[in-house]
Amino acid sequence: MRKIMKAAIFDGKYLRIEEIEKPIISETQVLVKVKAVGICGTDLAIYKGHLPTPTPLILGHEFSGEIIKIGKKIDSSWLNKRVTAEINANLDFDCYYCQRAMYTQCISRKALGIDVNGALAEYIALDSYLLHEIPDKLSFEEATFIEPLAAAYQTFVMMPIEKDDKLIAIFGLGKLGLLLVQVALLKGLEVIVIDGSDKKLDIATKWGAHHAINRLKCQHIPEEIKKITNNLGADIVVDASGNPDSLNNVVKSCRTRGKIHIKSTHGLDVPINLTDIVVREITIYSSRCGPFELAIQGLESGKVQVKGLISSTFTLSEIEEAFNSYESNKDQIKVVIKI
Ligand SMILES: [Zn+2]
Repeated sequence: MRKIMKAAIFDGKYLRIEEIEKPIISETQVLVKVKAVGICGTDLAIYKGHLPTPTPLILGHEFSGEIIKIGKKIDSSWLNKRVTAEINANLDFDCYYCQRAMYTQCISRKALGIDVNGALAEYIALDSYLLHEIPDKLSFEEATFIEPLAAAYQTFVMMPIEKDDKLIAIFGLGKLGLLLVQVALLKGLEVIVIDGSDKKLDIATKWGAHHAINRLKCQHIPEEIKKITNNLGADIVVDASGNPDSLNNVVKSCRTRGKIHIKSTHGLDVPINLTDIVVREITIYSSRCGPFELAIQGLESGKVQVKGLISSTFTLSEIEEAFNSYESNKDQIKVVIKI
């Protein structure tokens, strides 16, 4: 077998395809032939220099592939399995957070594709505890939605819905925002969506979102939301926009004693009107990735739909084009690299 593989290396400024040594697995790891990788807002924040990481780095953390080699201590049933993986590499299973099963917050954690090499390569070595088998009915491309869908579910793990929480406003209909729309509808919430793309607003409305606001055609979004909500504001407002400028609209659109939930990793210091939050006793929540099991169940059962959400596919050698397209085209939902 070849000992060299192709990988997309980010050097702090550019993404380049290079030939590097294929990873060598330990006794407790598997070698995965990567099949598909989704690009997400975090990848873009790194690429644009907003989110500092060690370099050189192989990006990519929403991915799927097939196990082609297993370490000595791995159960042989894993061989040839189609898998995706959580991104919490290097867990110590011993710290304060690990003892409480909060693995995303482990003090030793290194996030794949952010702190250590990720999946935009032909192969990746993975610790077996990260693995989840992909249901047969999901393609490798569809399986790249498991990680962001887990992040959408985590929104409501961290922020339980209470009896007065009837209406949610979701700013930003990227892939995460659109997945959030589906999860919010499954939770029985009335949904307002805000985005600059009519195409994305149409998708959300077809799924059942109750109100759509095109931010490019609306002079004053909070006022529009107040019109819908009896002048109160939304009970829950989620920021999935990746746009720091939208955050004060997020605050103004939330009702007094309502909930704001931040999903975007802006990678920047963001000005926000904290006085308004204090005076109106608004609670701020945040969350990152979450339970893969819930995401896999959601997709396998057909309750969550991802068909039609892959807006472009590129090959590994087209990686810079893929990132530039994701950044510049507001209709892009999910860009997938097929490897
Ligand atoms: Zn730990």
